[in-house]
Amino acid sequence: MVFKRSNLERQVGNLPKKILWCKKCLMSNQRPRIIFDKDQVCSGCNNSDNKRKINWLDREKELKDLLNNHRSKKGNFDVIVPSSGGKDSAFVAHMLKYKYNMNPLTVTWSPLEYTEIGKRNFYSLVNSGLTNILVTPDGEIQRRLARLCFEELGDAFHTFVMGQISVPFHIAIKFNINLVFFGENGELEYAGDPNYVDKPYKPHKEWLKQHFKGVNFEELIQFGLKNKKYIKEIEKFIKKDNLWFYKPPSALDLEEKKIKGKYFFSYFKKWIPQENYYYAVEKTGFKPSDERSEGTYSRYASLDDKMDGMHYYMRYIKFGLGRCCEDASHEIRDGHITRSEGLNLVKKFDGEFPKKYFKNFLDYLQINESHFQQVVDSWRSKNIWKKINKKWSLKIPPK
Ligand SMILES: [Zn+2]
Repeated sequence: MVFKRSNLERQVGNLPKKILWCKKCLMSNQRPRIIFDKDQVCSGCNNSDNKRKINWLDREKELKDLLNNHRSKKGNFDVIVPSSGGKDSAFVAHMLKYKYNMNPLTVTWSPLEYTEIGKRNFYSLVNSGLTNILVTPDGEIQRRLARLCFEELGDAFHTFVMGQISVPFHIAIKFNINLVFFGENGELEYAGDPNYVDKPYKPHKEWLKQHFKGVNFEELIQFGLKNKKYIKEIEKFIKKDNLWFYKPPSALDLEEKKIKGKYFFSYFKKWIPQENYYYAVEKTGFKPSDERSEGTYSRYASLDDKMDGMHYYMRYIKFGLGRCCEDASHEIRDGHITRSEGLNLVKKFDGEFPKKYFKNFLDYLQINESHFQQVVDSWRSKNIWKKINKKWSLKIPPK
């Protein structure tokens, strides 16, 4: 049996045919929106070099000016920090409160299925002195959307991403807060679209392309409603109020509230994940996992959701770039490891199957293993993969 997927996902069809690997890090040109220069160096590495020229004291002054314009004199919440309890958002929220005297409201969009360590870190952050609103969607709708996203967009976790971007802005509007601070600009830190890399915020008009795989929520839900296996059979239970958090507020609502977009702490403060980790351990009681995450060597990033591992695995299937490539590339740019050390790690861990929560994943989506495999194979492009003796491997691996 072959699973036939739609072309709702707009990224995979537009990737360069000739696969190139960055000479400095371990990113390939299959990462959506990445740019390679004439020396075969990726935009992530070039951005990283540019970061060395930034005067961070000037940037801090910019931050102070921005915060001075938003700080509440009446004791109201004055900045939203989207947070799961992970090290990066813990770092941002804690710094804003204790170093810059803001009154942050952390907003959490619930993971699809919390891990024990994720839940523990979430409460630890709250207990370090940060107020939180946890938004948890209708589990039945969420689960069905996750299956739709897994099959048609190649990523069940996309259900989470939609809310992760959208919910903080809905809460901002409800609480009259016009500053929303995310951690890092992913396009800058992990290589992507060079536009807006040197801007303190990303306006909402960019979100569709950069965060939602080019598919807007209405289109996705209409597709789901037409197909019984997704959400058609619960159509009568789907009400507007169960869905608002999956899509951002309208441009008009955002502009009316003077919300410019997603602000990035990484614009104002040099973003070094390892240092955020040490800060979070000390100040918010953050704990890493006891074991390395599957598919990589790190123990402190993306720990909250049992679906995280599959998210990275599907990226590996779609783009030939797994979790280890991401981690190693950032550490190469930060000077923590060399490219050849990174390459050895990638050879060892990249693309490792996330078996720890595999059964949870199948149970959550209510699919069996053979269907899972068909969906996975429907996302393997001939350009990236070859099959020899029933075994898949990358046609052009990094070297
Ligand atoms: Zn690079």
